Amino acid sequence: MRVKVRIVCKQCGETYILRGNKEQGVVQTGFKQCLCSCVSGFEIEERA
Ligand SMILES: [Zn+2]
Repeated sequence: MRVKVRIVCKQCGETYILRGNKEQGVVQTGFKQCLCSCVSGFEIEERA
């Protein structure tokens, strides 16, 4: 199932809108790291 996902970096506040795949309730986006090199601590929201 295709979903749109909004990712917010808690470190620098950068936001990304990505397309992901939702499988068994888990969204996979392939998103690895923010421009600021932050690799964890993202806020992830699904968008309708
Ligand atoms: Zn960042």
